[in-house]
Amino acid sequence: MSERLQKVIAQAGIASRRKAETLITAGRVQVNGVTVTELGTKVDSKDTVTVNGVPITKEQLVYYLFYKPRGVVTTVSDDKKRKTVLDYFEEVPERIYPVGRLDYDTSGLLLLTNDGELDNRLTHPKYEFEKNYVAKVKGIISNNDLKQLRLGVMVDGKKSAPAKSKLIRTDKENKTSIVGLTIHEGRNHQVKKMLAAVSHPVMKLSRESYGFLDLKGLNPGEWRRLRPHEVEELK
Ligand code: URA
Repeated sequence: MSERLQKVIAQAGIASRRKAETLITAGRVQVNGVTVTELGTKVDSKDTVTVNGVPITKEQLVYYLFYKPRGVVTTVSDDKKRKTVLDYFEEVPERIYPVGRLDYDTSGLLLLTNDGELDNRLTHPKYEFEKNYVAKVKGIISNNDLKQLRLGVMVDGKKSAPAKSKLIRTDKENKTSIVGLTIHEGRNHQVKKMLAAVSHPVMKLSRESYGFLDLKGLNPGEWRRLRPHEVEELK
């Protein structure tokens, strides 16, 4: 069966489909020794595809659900030598990478995979699953703040999509609140920026769920493989 070149590269776990397209147009991909820059090119299992001169092989696709602790970077390597999420997956042979990101000081649910197709799909705004966050913020959240969040607030000069928001509890003595926020967008530092927009800076943030997936049964730093039916549901 022949498939589009960018799909084959993404399935080999080398890059997302979008990144594979960039590799192709940049002339870094060869099919049977010939450089191909045409995005529609189709290849099949008899063709030898090389990226940057290295032949690609089909890796088994794997999917992990990780409880990211605070103080860990969501990258595959870090110039500052900080702990990365991949340090928790040393025994995993596949070349996995995180789907989206959580900030260094944010804990919670993070998916990792070598399935470029799924990564591409899950991080595309059109398909984004609901993500539920719990934040500790400065100040006492009012009903009006919750309403503003539900209507959408300005984030980097653009209005956010409406978020589900609820007050979990307040600590009147220390003037802090715990708030739940559910969003489906994935802009940079979105939750922190949304709460800052209603004058409640985030002190602590955790992602509790991603669509139908949650952290049940895991402690910070632990992971599990997704079950086949969970993978199906994400696709
Ligand atoms: N929003 C943030 O501000 N930070 C995260 O880590 C995730 C969502």
